[in-house]
Amino acid sequence: MTDATSLATALPWDGLILGAALATLDDDTGYAAIADAALGWRDGVLTFVGPRDALPDAPERLACEVIEAAGWITPGLVDCHTHLVFAGDRAREFEMRLEGASYEAIARAGGGILSTVRATREASEDELLRQSLPRARALLADGATTLEIKSGYGLDFDNERKMLRVARRVGEALGVTVRTTYLAAHALPPEYKDRADDYITAACEWLPRLHAEGLVDAVDAFCEGIGFSPAQTRRMFDTARALGLPVKLHADQLSDLGGAALAAEFGGLSADHVEYTSEASAQAMAAHGTVAVLLPGAFHVLRETRLPPLDAFRAHGVPMAVATDCNPGTSPLLSMRQAMQLACTHFRLTPEEALRGATVHAARALGLSDRGVLRVGLRADFAVWDVAHPAELVYWLGGRLARHVHAGGVAIRMPG
Ligand SMILES: [Zn+2]
Repeated sequence: MTDATSLATALPWDGLILGAALATLDDDTGYAAIADAALGWRDGVLTFVGPRDALPDAPERLACEVIEAAGWITPGLVDCHTHLVFAGDRAREFEMRLEGASYEAIARAGGGILSTVRATREASEDELLRQSLPRARALLADGATTLEIKSGYGLDFDNERKMLRVARRVGEALGVTVRTTYLAAHALPPEYKDRADDYITAACEWLPRLHAEGLVDAVDAFCEGIGFSPAQTRRMFDTARALGLPVKLHADQLSDLGGAALAAEFGGLSADHVEYTSEASAQAMAAHGTVAVLLPGAFHVLRETRLPPLDAFRAHGVPMAVATDCNPGTSPLLSMRQAMQLACTHFRLTPEEALRGATVHAARALGLSDRGVLRVGLRADFAVWDVAHPAELVYWLGGRLARHVHAGGVAIRMPG
């Protein structure tokens, strides 16, 4: 064997981090922690997860790059519900609401979701990407390595397509996984006023064309009194099923229309919001493996009071995920840690439940089984945090705790 060959075989890993503690989450309960740990990876996949003193050789003979760290390492966070591709913002509307303006007055002044639809339609694809990237970057800087991004502000074929293309470009530009969700059934566009059934017919016709372009990973709808009915949602889901696409649903946020049970009936990946979900629906979710995605940002901004049925979810073994719901109207939230914090304060999740909700359960809500825990063979998606205990992740409000974030083994450049 030549020296060069022995060097190559002696340096099998791309990177190795030493000294931090790991919250692997690779067990049913607890953080599955490893103190004074080592984490190695090659070609984007974890090659070693364990105590430093169990390494098979000296670190410098194992990896090209060896990093000494402190603090804790968790799986990369997975934001499984965002609307982060949009143009404009609704800050002035927020101000008007706080000044006492009514919903009607805000709508008359051009506010509400249709103002976001207007701005998004007017923006070019490049402009929409330019406005959306900083929001995605903020999520990454706070530990996220996987994002879900929905359409739903275009509400016609060309503009839904534009949003989904921008979502794909966000993932390419930042080097992280982006899962796209078709949410044409988000709101009724003005040109279909009082013709919701006709709009659903059109939205069902657009879906196969967008899917054929590789732009759709899942299908969603806003099933609510002020959104679309269960019957209309069912038509959307039937179309998705015929194409072999998984479904998820904005369900039971403001009232119980049986949305979570409907998502479960279709084997849905998740039912999201779920404040008004009944115990029977929770049982249906458990039976079909549908994840409950908690969105405490919208709950917080809307000053809602009805809590999701956490005890029923726990009792029936429904996995609970946490996401930002990043959107301009009801949840302008750019931090997974903040979402986890709100889930703890408003919904009384434990810090461990919040961390599982932001990692392993969120990955499941996206149908991804290759991430969410630290385990050899899974993706090298992880965050190194400046904390003495994982509970600090949901203890601090704001601040910067993420020191390194890696997606597929590659370091995400952190803001200066
Ligand atoms: Zn949403």
